[in-house]
Amino acid sequence: MTTPAQPQVLPGHAPDAGDRPRLSFAVPRRGKPPRHLADLTSAERAAVVTELGQPAYRAKQISTHYFGHLTRDSGAMTDLPAGMREDLVPQLLPELLTEVRRLEADGGDTVKTLWSLFDGVKVESVLMGYSDRATLCVSSQAGCGMACPFCATGQQGLTRNLSTAEIIEQVRRAAVSCRDGELPGGPRRLTNIVFMGMGEPLANYRTVINAVRRMVDPTPDGLGMSARHITVSTVGLVPAMRKLTAEGIPVTLALSLHAPDDELRSQLIPINTRWTVGEALDAAREYFEVTGRRVSIEYALIKDMNDHGWRADLLAAELLKRGKGWVHVNPIPLNPTPGSIWTASDKDVEDEFVARLRSAGIPTTVRDTRGSDIDGACGQLAAEV
Ligand code: SAH
Repeated sequence: MTTPAQPQVLPGHAPDAGDRPRLSFAVPRRGKPPRHLADLTSAERAAVVTELGQPAYRAKQISTHYFGHLTRDSGAMTDLPAGMREDLVPQLLPELLTEVRRLEADGGDTVKTLWSLFDGVKVESVLMGYSDRATLCVSSQAGCGMACPFCATGQQGLTRNLSTAEIIEQVRRAAVSCRDGELPGGPRRLTNIVFMGMGEPLANYRTVINAVRRMVDPTPDGLGMSARHITVSTVGLVPAMRKLTAEGIPVTLALSLHAPDDELRSQLIPINTRWTVGEALDAAREYFEVTGRRVSIEYALIKDMNDHGWRADLLAAELLKRGKGWVHVNPIPLNPTPGSIWTASDKDVEDEFVARLRSAGIPTTVRDTRGSDIDGACGQLAAEV
Protein backbone atom coordinates (compact mmCIF):
# COMPACT_ATOMS: atom_id res chain seq x y z
CA MET A 1 0.00 0.00 0.00
CA THR A 2 1.32 3.43 -0.87
CA THR A 3 -0.35 6.73 -0.23
CA PRO A 4 1.10 10.21 -0.75
CA ALA A 5 3.95 10.81 1.65
CA GLN A 6 3.61 13.25 4.51
CA PRO A 7 6.59 15.44 5.32
CA GLN A 8 7.91 13.46 8.29
CA VAL A 9 7.49 10.16 6.52
CA LEU A 10 10.31 8.21 4.99
CA PRO A 11 10.12 7.82 1.25
CA GLY A 12 9.33 4.25 0.37
CA HIS A 13 7.05 3.51 3.26
CA ALA A 14 3.37 3.88 3.89
CA PRO A 15 2.86 7.08 5.90
CA ASP A 16 0.75 5.30 8.49
CA ALA A 17 3.63 4.98 10.93
CA GLY A 18 1.44 4.45 13.98
CA ASP A 19 1.96 0.69 14.11
CA ARG A 20 5.58 0.75 13.06
CA PRO A 21 8.10 0.39 15.85
CA ARG A 22 10.10 3.36 17.06
CA LEU A 23 13.70 3.20 18.13
CA SER A 24 13.72 1.72 21.63
CA PHE A 25 16.18 0.46 24.21
CA ALA A 26 13.45 -0.84 26.49
CA VAL A 27 13.80 -4.58 26.98
CA PRO A 28 10.38 -6.16 27.50
CA ARG A 29 10.10 -8.07 30.78
CA ARG A 30 9.51 -11.71 30.07
CA GLY A 31 10.32 -15.03 31.71
CA LYS A 32 13.93 -16.12 31.56
CA PRO A 33 15.02 -19.16 29.57
CA PRO A 34 16.02 -22.11 31.79
CA ARG A 35 19.61 -22.02 33.02
CA HIS A 36 21.96 -23.95 30.78
CA LEU A 37 25.57 -25.05 30.96
CA ALA A 38 26.48 -22.67 28.11
CA ASP A 39 25.33 -19.69 30.18
CA LEU A 40 28.04 -20.43 32.73
CA THR A 41 31.79 -20.01 32.93
CA SER A 42 33.70 -23.16 33.82
CA ALA A 43 34.03 -21.97 37.44
CA GLU A 44 30.28 -21.34 37.61
CA ARG A 45 29.57 -24.78 36.14
CA ALA A 46 31.67 -26.45 38.81
CA ALA A 47 29.85 -24.46 41.49
CA VAL A 48 26.41 -25.41 40.15
CA VAL A 49 27.31 -29.10 39.94
CA THR A 50 28.58 -28.98 43.51
CA GLU A 51 25.35 -27.27 44.59
CA LEU A 52 23.45 -30.10 42.95
CA GLY A 53 25.35 -32.49 45.19
CA GLN A 54 27.84 -33.88 42.68
CA PRO A 55 31.63 -33.64 42.47
CA ALA A 56 32.85 -30.64 40.45
CA TYR A 57 34.72 -32.76 37.89
CA ARG A 58 31.38 -33.92 36.52
CA ALA A 59 30.93 -30.40 35.14
CA LYS A 60 34.00 -30.88 33.00
CA GLN A 61 32.80 -34.24 31.75
CA ILE A 62 29.44 -32.83 30.73
CA SER A 63 31.13 -29.81 29.14
CA THR A 64 33.30 -32.17 27.10
CA HIS A 65 30.19 -33.87 25.76
CA TYR A 66 28.46 -30.61 25.02
CA PHE A 67 31.24 -28.43 23.59
CA GLY A 68 33.58 -31.19 22.41
CA HIS A 69 31.17 -33.84 21.10
CA LEU A 70 28.39 -31.31 20.43
CA THR A 71 25.80 -33.45 22.17
CA ARG A 72 23.19 -32.93 24.87
CA ASP A 73 22.00 -36.53 24.63
CA SER A 74 22.64 -37.98 28.06
CA GLY A 75 22.37 -41.52 26.65
CA ALA A 76 25.68 -40.90 24.88
CA MET A 77 27.43 -39.87 28.11
CA THR A 78 28.54 -43.34 29.10
CA ASP A 79 31.24 -42.02 31.43
CA LEU A 80 28.50 -40.79 33.78
CA PRO A 81 26.59 -43.03 36.18
CA ALA A 82 23.03 -43.76 35.02
CA GLY A 83 21.47 -41.69 37.81
CA MET A 84 23.41 -38.63 36.79
CA ARG A 85 22.47 -39.06 33.15
CA GLU A 86 18.83 -38.99 34.15
CA ASP A 87 18.97 -36.27 36.75
CA LEU A 88 22.01 -33.99 36.48
CA VAL A 89 22.35 -33.76 32.70
CA PRO A 90 18.79 -32.58 31.98
CA GLN A 91 19.22 -29.89 34.64
CA LEU A 92 22.35 -28.59 32.94
CA LEU A 93 21.35 -29.13 29.32
CA PRO A 94 17.63 -28.30 29.02
CA GLU A 95 16.18 -28.17 25.51
CA LEU A 96 16.27 -24.52 24.42
CA LEU A 97 15.62 -24.63 20.65
CA THR A 98 12.92 -26.56 18.82
CA GLU A 99 13.13 -26.62 15.06
CA VAL A 100 9.93 -25.22 13.51
CA ARG A 101 10.92 -24.99 9.90
CA ARG A 102 13.90 -25.40 7.64
CA LEU A 103 14.33 -23.79 4.22
CA GLU A 104 17.06 -24.47 1.72
CA ALA A 105 18.39 -22.34 -1.12
CA ASP A 106 21.44 -22.19 -3.40
CA GLY A 107 21.28 -25.93 -4.05
CA GLY A 108 21.36 -26.72 -0.34
CA ASP A 109 24.41 -24.51 0.39
CA THR A 110 22.18 -22.12 2.34
CA VAL A 111 19.96 -23.48 5.08
CA LYS A 112 17.70 -21.24 7.11
CA THR A 113 16.19 -22.66 10.30
CA LEU A 114 13.34 -21.16 12.26
CA TRP A 115 13.54 -22.03 15.96
CA SER A 116 10.95 -21.86 18.68
CA LEU A 117 12.36 -20.92 22.09
CA PHE A 118 11.11 -22.17 25.49
CA ASP A 119 8.40 -19.49 25.56
CA GLY A 120 7.27 -19.97 21.97
CA VAL A 121 9.20 -16.93 20.72
CA LYS A 122 10.66 -17.49 17.24
CA VAL A 123 14.16 -16.73 15.97
CA GLU A 124 16.11 -17.88 12.98
CA SER A 125 19.63 -18.69 11.96
CA VAL A 126 21.14 -19.18 8.51
CA LEU A 127 23.95 -21.61 7.69
CA MET A 128 25.96 -20.97 4.53
CA GLY A 129 28.45 -23.41 3.06
CA TYR A 130 31.28 -22.08 0.87
CA SER A 131 34.24 -23.87 -0.68
CA ASP A 132 36.62 -22.74 2.07
CA ARG A 133 34.37 -22.12 5.06
CA ALA A 134 30.96 -22.61 6.62
CA THR A 135 29.35 -19.53 8.14
CA LEU A 136 26.44 -19.30 10.55
CA CYS A 137 24.41 -16.12 10.81
CA VAL A 138 23.06 -16.06 14.39
CA SER A 139 20.31 -14.10 16.12
CA SER A 140 21.13 -12.28 19.35
CA GLN A 141 17.63 -10.96 20.08
CA ALA A 142 14.07 -11.96 19.19
CA GLY A 143 13.06 -8.98 17.09
CA CYS A 144 15.04 -5.74 17.36
CA GLY A 145 14.54 -2.31 18.91
CA MET A 146 16.59 -0.36 16.37
CA ALA A 147 13.65 0.21 13.97
CA CYS A 148 15.66 0.49 10.74
CA PRO A 149 12.91 0.92 8.11
CA PHE A 150 14.51 -1.28 5.41
CA CYS A 151 15.00 -4.27 7.74
CA ALA A 152 12.22 -6.80 8.30
CA THR A 153 13.36 -7.51 11.86
CA GLY A 154 13.41 -3.78 12.58
CA GLN A 155 9.72 -3.69 11.71
CA GLN A 156 8.86 -6.22 14.41
CA GLY A 157 10.15 -4.32 17.43
CA LEU A 158 12.01 -6.09 20.23
CA THR A 159 10.38 -9.13 21.80
CA ARG A 160 13.25 -10.08 24.10
CA ASN A 161 16.96 -10.60 24.45
CA LEU A 162 18.26 -14.11 23.87
CA SER A 163 20.30 -15.80 26.57
CA THR A 164 23.93 -16.79 26.01
CA ALA A 165 22.92 -20.45 25.78
CA GLU A 166 20.18 -19.68 23.24
CA ILE A 167 22.88 -18.15 21.03
CA ILE A 168 25.33 -21.01 21.66
CA GLU A 169 22.65 -23.58 20.90
CA GLN A 170 22.18 -22.04 17.44
CA VAL A 171 25.92 -22.51 16.94
CA ARG A 172 26.03 -26.04 18.32
CA ARG A 173 23.11 -27.17 16.16
CA ALA A 174 24.80 -25.73 13.05
CA ALA A 175 28.12 -27.32 14.01
CA VAL A 176 26.30 -30.67 14.23
CA SER A 177 24.73 -30.09 10.78
CA CYS A 178 28.19 -29.38 9.36
CA ARG A 179 29.82 -32.35 11.06
CA ASP A 180 27.05 -34.70 9.98
CA GLY A 181 27.43 -33.68 6.34
CA GLU A 182 24.10 -31.90 5.94
CA LEU A 183 25.68 -29.34 3.63
CA PRO A 184 26.61 -30.50 0.11
CA GLY A 185 30.18 -31.74 -0.10
CA GLY A 186 30.08 -33.87 3.02
CA PRO A 187 31.19 -33.46 6.61
CA ARG A 188 33.01 -30.24 7.47
CA ARG A 189 33.59 -27.84 10.33
CA LEU A 190 31.59 -24.77 11.18
CA THR A 191 34.29 -22.10 10.91
CA ASN A 192 32.65 -18.64 10.90
CA ILE A 193 29.97 -16.85 12.89
CA VAL A 194 28.31 -13.57 11.96
CA PHE A 195 25.99 -11.74 14.36
CA MET A 196 23.82 -10.67 11.47
CA GLY A 197 20.61 -12.51 12.23
CA MET A 198 17.82 -10.95 14.24
CA GLY A 199 18.70 -8.28 16.75
CA GLU A 200 21.31 -5.69 17.62
CA PRO A 201 24.10 -7.65 19.31
CA LEU A 202 25.55 -4.66 21.14
CA ALA A 203 22.12 -3.93 22.69
CA ASN A 204 22.39 -7.35 24.37
CA TYR A 205 26.00 -6.72 25.21
CA ARG A 206 26.89 -8.91 28.20
CA THR A 207 25.08 -11.91 26.76
CA VAL A 208 26.74 -11.56 23.38
CA ILE A 209 30.21 -11.16 24.89
CA ASN A 210 29.63 -14.27 27.00
CA ALA A 211 28.50 -16.13 23.88
CA VAL A 212 31.62 -15.03 22.02
CA ARG A 213 33.76 -16.24 24.93
CA ARG A 214 31.98 -19.62 24.91
CA MET A 215 32.64 -19.84 21.14
CA VAL A 216 36.35 -19.09 21.42
CA ASP A 217 37.24 -20.80 24.70
CA PRO A 218 39.11 -24.04 23.96
CA THR A 219 37.14 -27.25 24.54
CA PRO A 220 35.91 -28.39 26.98
CA ASP A 221 35.28 -24.86 28.26
CA GLY A 222 33.93 -23.70 24.92
CA LEU A 223 33.70 -24.52 21.23
CA GLY A 224 37.31 -23.64 20.40
CA MET A 225 36.50 -21.38 17.44
CA SER A 226 38.74 -18.57 16.20
CA ALA A 227 37.72 -15.06 17.32
CA ARG A 228 38.93 -13.72 13.99
CA HIS A 229 36.24 -15.76 12.32
CA ILE A 230 33.49 -14.17 14.41
CA THR A 231 31.90 -10.93 13.17
CA VAL A 232 29.86 -8.67 15.43
CA SER A 233 27.69 -6.34 13.37
CA THR A 234 26.25 -3.16 14.88
CA VAL A 235 24.12 -0.15 13.98
CA GLY A 236 26.79 1.89 15.79
CA LEU A 237 26.09 1.93 19.51
CA VAL A 238 29.20 3.97 20.23
CA PRO A 239 29.61 3.36 23.99
CA ALA A 240 29.18 -0.40 23.43
CA MET A 241 31.66 -0.30 20.53
CA ARG A 242 34.16 1.26 22.95
CA LYS A 243 33.46 -1.43 25.53
CA LEU A 244 34.00 -4.08 22.86
CA THR A 245 37.31 -2.44 21.97
CA ALA A 246 38.39 -2.81 25.58
CA GLU A 247 37.42 -6.50 25.84
CA GLY A 248 40.54 -7.59 24.01
CA ILE A 249 38.80 -10.29 21.95
CA PRO A 250 39.94 -10.01 18.32
CA VAL A 251 36.52 -10.43 16.71
CA THR A 252 35.77 -8.64 13.46
CA LEU A 253 33.64 -5.54 13.93
CA ALA A 254 31.14 -4.61 11.24
CA LEU A 255 29.45 -1.22 11.25
CA SER A 256 26.15 -0.89 9.39
CA LEU A 257 26.68 2.55 7.94
CA HIS A 258 24.39 2.61 4.87
CA ALA A 259 24.90 6.35 4.37
CA PRO A 260 27.91 8.67 4.76
CA ASP A 261 25.84 11.74 5.70
CA ASP A 262 23.83 12.27 8.88
CA GLU A 263 20.76 13.54 7.11
CA LEU A 264 20.14 10.31 5.24
CA ARG A 265 21.62 7.97 7.84
CA SER A 266 19.25 9.28 10.49
CA GLN A 267 16.38 8.13 8.28
CA LEU A 268 17.87 4.71 7.54
CA ILE A 269 19.36 4.00 10.98
CA PRO A 270 17.34 5.87 13.59
CA ILE A 271 20.09 5.48 16.23
CA ASN A 272 22.11 7.93 14.14
CA THR A 273 20.14 10.69 15.84
CA ARG A 274 22.01 9.71 19.01
CA TRP A 275 25.45 8.78 17.62
CA THR A 276 26.37 10.37 14.32
CA VAL A 277 28.25 9.03 11.31
CA GLY A 278 31.40 10.77 12.54
CA GLU A 279 31.12 9.35 16.05
CA ALA A 280 30.43 5.82 14.80
CA LEU A 281 33.36 5.98 12.37
CA ASP A 282 35.67 7.34 15.06
CA ALA A 283 34.71 4.43 17.33
CA ALA A 284 35.26 1.97 14.47
CA ARG A 285 38.66 3.46 13.75
CA GLU A 286 39.59 3.16 17.46
CA TYR A 287 38.58 -0.49 17.30
CA PHE A 288 41.10 -1.01 14.52
CA GLU A 289 43.82 0.91 16.35
CA VAL A 290 43.49 -1.12 19.53
CA THR A 291 42.81 -4.57 18.07
CA GLY A 292 44.56 -4.37 14.70
CA ARG A 293 41.42 -5.87 13.18
CA ARG A 294 40.25 -4.28 9.98
CA VAL A 295 36.68 -3.03 10.35
CA SER A 296 33.92 -3.83 7.84
CA ILE A 297 31.55 -1.10 6.75
CA GLU A 298 28.22 -2.47 5.61
CA TYR A 299 26.34 -0.50 3.02
CA ALA A 300 23.00 -1.82 1.74
CA LEU A 301 22.58 -0.31 -1.70
CA ILE A 302 19.03 1.03 -1.98
CA LYS A 303 17.92 2.30 -5.36
CA ASP A 304 17.85 6.11 -5.52
CA MET A 305 18.21 6.37 -1.73
CA ASN A 306 21.89 6.00 -0.91
CA ASP A 307 23.50 4.75 -4.13
CA HIS A 308 24.59 8.07 -5.69
CA GLY A 309 28.09 8.53 -7.00
CA TRP A 310 28.61 11.54 -4.77
CA ARG A 311 27.72 9.44 -1.74
CA ALA A 312 30.37 6.87 -2.73
CA ASP A 313 32.87 9.73 -2.94
CA LEU A 314 31.74 11.13 0.40
CA LEU A 315 31.98 7.68 2.00
CA ALA A 316 35.52 7.28 0.66
CA ALA A 317 36.46 10.73 1.97
CA GLU A 318 35.02 10.02 5.44
CA LEU A 319 36.96 6.77 5.63
CA LEU A 320 40.23 8.18 4.25
CA LYS A 321 40.01 11.11 6.66
CA ARG A 322 40.58 8.51 9.35
CA GLY A 323 43.53 6.83 7.65
CA LYS A 324 44.30 4.04 5.22
CA GLY A 325 44.23 0.28 5.56
CA TRP A 326 41.89 0.21 8.54
CA VAL A 327 38.65 -0.55 6.82
CA HIS A 328 36.94 -2.28 3.97
CA VAL A 329 33.49 -1.75 2.55
CA ASN A 330 30.84 -4.40 1.93
CA PRO A 331 28.09 -3.08 -0.30
CA ILE A 332 25.02 -5.34 0.03
CA PRO A 333 22.31 -5.35 -2.63
CA LEU A 334 19.12 -4.50 -0.72
CA ASN A 335 16.88 -7.45 -0.05
CA PRO A 336 13.42 -5.88 -0.39
CA THR A 337 11.09 -6.33 2.58
CA PRO A 338 7.28 -6.50 2.57
CA GLY A 339 5.54 -3.15 2.85
CA SER A 340 8.46 -1.23 1.39
CA ILE A 341 8.80 0.03 -2.15
CA TRP A 342 12.55 0.26 -1.71
CA THR A 343 14.52 -2.01 -3.93
CA ALA A 344 18.09 -2.89 -4.81
CA SER A 345 20.18 -0.53 -6.91
CA ASP A 346 20.57 -1.24 -10.60
CA LYS A 347 23.65 -3.25 -11.43
CA ASP A 348 25.37 -0.42 -13.31
CA VAL A 349 24.77 1.95 -10.38
CA GLU A 350 26.17 -0.66 -7.99
CA ASP A 351 29.21 -1.10 -10.26
CA GLU A 352 29.80 2.65 -10.35
CA PHE A 353 29.50 2.89 -6.55
CA VAL A 354 32.04 0.11 -6.11
CA ALA A 355 34.37 1.54 -8.77
CA ARG A 356 34.44 4.94 -7.06
CA LEU A 357 35.33 3.42 -3.70
CA ARG A 358 38.03 1.25 -5.23
CA SER A 359 39.55 4.09 -7.23
CA ALA A 360 39.78 6.03 -3.96
CA GLY A 361 41.81 3.11 -2.59
CA ILE A 362 39.11 1.59 -0.37
CA PRO A 363 39.03 -2.24 -0.51
CA THR A 364 35.46 -3.08 -1.48
CA THR A 365 33.68 -6.42 -1.85
CA VAL A 366 30.03 -6.76 -2.78
CA ARG A 367 28.39 -9.14 -0.33
CA ASP A 368 26.86 -12.17 -1.99
CA THR A 369 23.11 -12.41 -1.65
CA ARG A 370 22.92 -15.91 -0.30
CA GLY A 371 19.44 -17.14 0.35
CA SER A 372 17.68 -14.03 -0.88
CA ASP A 373 14.93 -16.26 -2.26
CA ILE A 374 14.32 -17.55 1.26
CA ASP A 375 14.79 -14.07 2.73
CA GLY A 376 18.05 -15.20 4.19
CA ALA A 377 19.21 -11.81 5.37
CA CYS A 378 16.45 -10.18 7.24
CA GLY A 379 13.98 -11.86 9.56
CA GLN A 380 11.13 -12.43 7.15
CA LEU A 381 10.46 -16.05 8.02
CA ALA A 382 10.02 -15.34 11.70
CA ALA A 383 7.86 -12.36 10.79
CA GLU A 384 5.63 -14.56 8.69
CA VAL A 385 4.93 -17.33 11.22
N1 SAH B 1 21.75 -5.08 14.17
C1 SAH B 1 22.95 -5.45 13.48
C2 SAH B 1 22.80 -6.77 12.74
C3 SAH B 1 21.70 -6.67 11.74
S1 SAH B 1 21.63 -7.65 10.31
C4 SAH B 1 23.30 -4.37 12.47
O1 SAH B 1 22.44 -3.56 12.16
O2 SAH B 1 24.42 -4.32 12.02
C5 SAH B 1 23.10 -7.49 9.42
C6 SAH B 1 23.12 -6.53 8.27
O3 SAH B 1 22.03 -6.71 7.36
C7 SAH B 1 23.07 -5.07 8.73
O4 SAH B 1 24.06 -4.35 8.06
C8 SAH B 1 21.70 -4.65 8.27
O5 SAH B 1 21.62 -3.27 8.08
C9 SAH B 1 21.57 -5.43 6.99
N2 SAH B 1 20.19 -5.52 6.48
C10 SAH B 1 19.04 -5.49 7.17
N3 SAH B 1 17.98 -5.56 6.35
C11 SAH B 1 18.47 -5.65 5.11
C12 SAH B 1 17.88 -5.75 3.81
N4 SAH B 1 16.55 -5.76 3.68
N5 SAH B 1 18.69 -5.83 2.75
C13 SAH B 1 20.04 -5.82 2.91
N6 SAH B 1 20.65 -5.73 4.08
C14 SAH B 1 19.89 -5.63 5.18
